Amino acid sequence: MEKANNFGKVYLIGAGPGDPGLLTLRAHAILEKADVVVYDRLVSPAILGMCNTKAKMVDVGKMPTHHKVKQSEINKLLVKFAIEMPGATIARLKGGDPFVFGRGGEEALELVAAGVEFEIVPGVTSAIAVPAYAGIPVSHRGIATSFHIITGHEKEVDSRQSEVGSDSAIPAKAEISMPSSGEPVGLDFETLAHCPGTLVFLMGIGNMDFIARRLIECGKDPKTPLAFIEKGTTPFQRTVMATLETAGETIVREHVTAPAITIMGGVVELGKTLAWKKNLPLSGKRLVVTRAAKQSSEISARLTALGAEVIETPMIETRSLEKPLVMCHPERSETESKDPDQHCFADFGSLANFDILAFTSTNGVESFFKQLFAAGYDVRVLAGKKIASVGKITEKKLLEYGIRCDYVPEDHTGEGLGMLLRSILDERTLVNSLQTRDECGLTSSLSLSKGTESMNLDESRILLLQGNLADDTLLKLLPKATRWTVYETLPVAELPDWKREAVESADAVVFASSSAVENFSKILSSKFCQLSSQKAFCIGRMTESAACKYGFETVTSDETTMDSLVKKIVEYYTKES
Ligand code: SAH
Repeated sequence: MEKANNFGKVYLIGAGPGDPGLLTLRAHAILEKADVVVYDRLVSPAILGMCNTKAKMVDVGKMPTHHKVKQSEINKLLVKFAIEMPGATIARLKGGDPFVFGRGGEEALELVAAGVEFEIVPGVTSAIAVPAYAGIPVSHRGIATSFHIITGHEKEVDSRQSEVGSDSAIPAKAEISMPSSGEPVGLDFETLAHCPGTLVFLMGIGNMDFIARRLIECGKDPKTPLAFIEKGTTPFQRTVMATLETAGETIVREHVTAPAITIMGGVVELGKTLAWKKNLPLSGKRLVVTRAAKQSSEISARLTALGAEVIETPMIETRSLEKPLVMCHPERSETESKDPDQHCFADFGSLANFDILAFTSTNGVESFFKQLFAAGYDVRVLAGKKIASVGKITEKKLLEYGIRCDYVPEDHTGEGLGMLLRSILDERTLVNSLQTRDECGLTSSLSLSKGTESMNLDESRILLLQGNLADDTLLKLLPKATRWTVYETLPVAELPDWKREAVESADAVVFASSSAVENFSKILSSKFCQLSSQKAFCIGRMTESAACKYGFETVTSDETTMDSLVKKIVEYYTKES
C-alpha cells in the first residue's frame, strides 16, 4: 500500500509475559529506535530499560494520579502521536501478545480509520508461556488434544473496568467481589464444562470462585486439577495447585494475586514432574544496582543469575555542549576564541584544517551534527573528508546522517581506532587492519593506498570528536591530532517515571562505592522518590558509612570485593526466609 501521508508509524508490539528473554528480536529492534513508547502496566522494567533512552515514555497503565487511561483515550493518543510526529516510530508496547485479550485489534482499527500506517509485532502470550514456565504443557498426547484461552473478566462483570486498558492485571476492588448480575456474558459454561481440552483463564482470579462453581454446576468434575500461576516467567513466579472445587478457598488462603493465569485440566498434573524453574536464593527480590562504574554490570549479571530482578540505575547521563570545545592549539588559535577555563570554542570554519574526522561514540556523532546544524552548516562541509568510527554502532549512527565510514577498526576500541589511524599515517604497513566500504556498502579489505592516496597524510589534520570524559588513549597514539569535546557527562538529575516506580518498590539497593550512595541519594531527593525499603547492601566500610549518613539500614560485605558482597546478599536473604 502506498503511503499517503507522512505520519509516524505505530507498531503494536507484544512484550511477552515478563522474562525479557522472551521479547522477540523484531520487538527489540523497534524499541531501540522508538521515539515514543506507550506502555502498559504488565511490561517489565527490564524491557522498558531496553527502549531508546531518548524515547518519550508514556505509561497508560497508570497515570500520575493513579487512574488508568481509558482504552478510547489510548486509541486517540496513538493517532495523535502519529499525526504530530511525522516519520516517527511509535511503539505501543503491551503485555504478552497484542491480539490475545490485549485490545490490539481495537487500536489497529482506530489507526486504520485515521490513515495511520501500523505493524503488528506478535508477542509470546502468557496463556501458553506462563504454564510452560511452570512445567505445564497446554496440550499433551493422551491428556489434552485442545486448549482454550478464555477471559475470566467479561465486559458485563464490571462495566467500569471494561473501559480501561485491559492489559492491566491489577484487579479493581469491585472485581474481587462476585458478579452480582449472574453469569459473565459470553462465557458458555455448559460448553466449557463439557469441553475435554485444557482451559486457560486470563484475568480471571477475581471471578474464579464463581467460574469454578458454575463449571461444577454444569457438570465439570470437581476434582479437575487446576493451577494458578502468578507473575509467570518473572523472578516472582509462583505456582499454586488446587482442584476445581477448592479454587475459591485456595485463592483466598494463598493470597493469589494478579497477574495470574488459571489453568484447568489433566495437564496440570504434569507440572508436578516437569516444574523446571528453580527457586533461586534471590527469587522474588527486586534489587536496585546503581550504575556508575563498569563493575555494576558484572554484579547485575550475578544477582540476576541468582534469581533477583535487578533494576540498573545509571548515575550519569550525557549532554551535548552548545558548541564544541577544543584544547588551545597554538597554530590555529586565530580560528578559536578562548573561554574562561582555558579551553577554546571550536569554529566549524576550521574543519577545513582536517582531513580525517574520528568519532568514538554515537553521542559524539549526535552532538557534533547538532552543533554543526545549529551553527548554520550542513553535511557538505564534510565533502572530501575521510570518516573514522570506533565501531559498528557509531558507524550505523553516522549512516543516519548520510555519512558512510571509511575506516572502522576490527578491534572496536579507542586503541583499535588509534592503531588503525596510526597505521594510515605510518604508511601502509598494517594493511590488513583496515576496513573500507565499497560502493555497495559491503565491507572489504582494501589496500591502504587506495583509501588514502589522494590525502595529505598529516597527523595534525586528524580531528577527534569525543566526550569530556574520554581518556587519552587516542591522543597518546596520535599526539598531534586535535580533540574537540562535543558532549559532556553529568550526574543524572532524575529518573524516568517508570524507573522511579521500580526503584521505589525495590527490596534493597546495592552500592559498590560511596560516590554511588551520594549520587543515588541526590537523585532520590530531587524527585520525591520514596523507597519502600531503606535497606542497602554495601561493599566495605566506606560505602557503609556513606549509606548510614543518608539513613539507609545497611548490610555490609566482609571484604571489599564483589564476591563478598554477593555472598552477603545471598546470606541475608537465606537467613530471612
Ligand atoms: N495480551 C496478554 C494478555 C492480556 S490480559 C497475553 O497475551 O499474555 C492480562 C492477563 O494476562 C492477566 O490478568 C493475567 O491473567 C495474564 N498474564 C499476563 N502476564 C502474566 C504473567 N506474567 N503471569 C501470569 N499471568 C499473566
